[in-house]
Amino acid sequence: MNTPSLIQGRCTLVGAGPGDPELLTLKAVKAIQAATVLLVDDLVNDEILQWARPEARIVHVGKRGGCKSTPQSFIEKLMITAVREGETVVRLKGGDPFIFGRGGEEVEHLREAGIECGVINGITAGLAAVTALGVPLTHRDRAQGVVFVTGHAKTGAAARHEPTDWRALAATARDARLTLVIYMGVAGVDAIQQQLQDGGLPADTPVAVVQQASLPGQRQVTSTLANLATDLRAAGLGSPAVIVVGDVLRGMAAAQQDAARFGT
Ligand code: SAH
Repeated sequence: MNTPSLIQGRCTLVGAGPGDPELLTLKAVKAIQAATVLLVDDLVNDEILQWARPEARIVHVGKRGGCKSTPQSFIEKLMITAVREGETVVRLKGGDPFIFGRGGEEVEHLREAGIECGVINGITAGLAAVTALGVPLTHRDRAQGVVFVTGHAKTGAAARHEPTDWRALAATARDARLTLVIYMGVAGVDAIQQQLQDGGLPADTPVAVVQQASLPGQRQVTSTLANLATDLRAAGLGSPAVIVVGDVLRGMAAAQQDAARFGT
């Protein structure tokens, strides 16, 4: 009879939220406090490490500081080894672990190695971004739903699917009245803008870009689809940023008008 290998330690994927440490969940803080090994992704605010034990081993696995990011397979091997050595491993990921950022892949690979990983949600950047602008993601009069989409799909030989069909997405967003929240889209903004317009989203569709949502360095620019790339460049915004497209942003103008009217 095969004896299943004994897993001593444990592993949790923890959403570190968009940046503001106060947006962490209580569960996230408790997991950080309990960790003996922390693997910290790019875009995680280091301030949250204040809750880590002094003796915890902290490994930064992101691109910050100009270093090349650690290969995904190496990170997963590190996690598996640490768990087998009996460590309490916390993998800190920006935003929510299950919205981009490869959380799903990590959970699958650990499961294949016989390790069941816990997951603690975090506030995803797209949600923090619209909140920073004072508008919702959905609104009964303006958007019936929301699409979180990556502007940087896996490409080349490793890709199992065609890249995002922005034209189809534009038509659906227009007809079904959906807010588009585009992650990792700044580098490809010209093509995204063009294809969304080609797909039938009107040129005057409101657009906003929010960089470093929830952090002291937060910056944003509002525009229309037709002027998105030009206005983004003029404002000098770069990564990390999310692009929000849709009529929910019309609420921003209303909020500003109210503020002007009421002198607040
Ligand atoms: N799991 C993360 C997303 C990881 S992908 C989440 O749920 O938020 C990385 C992308 O997220 C960045 O390229 C950027 O588009 C976005 N992002 C992450 N943090 C951000 C922030 N504070 N402000 C704006 N965009 C952010």
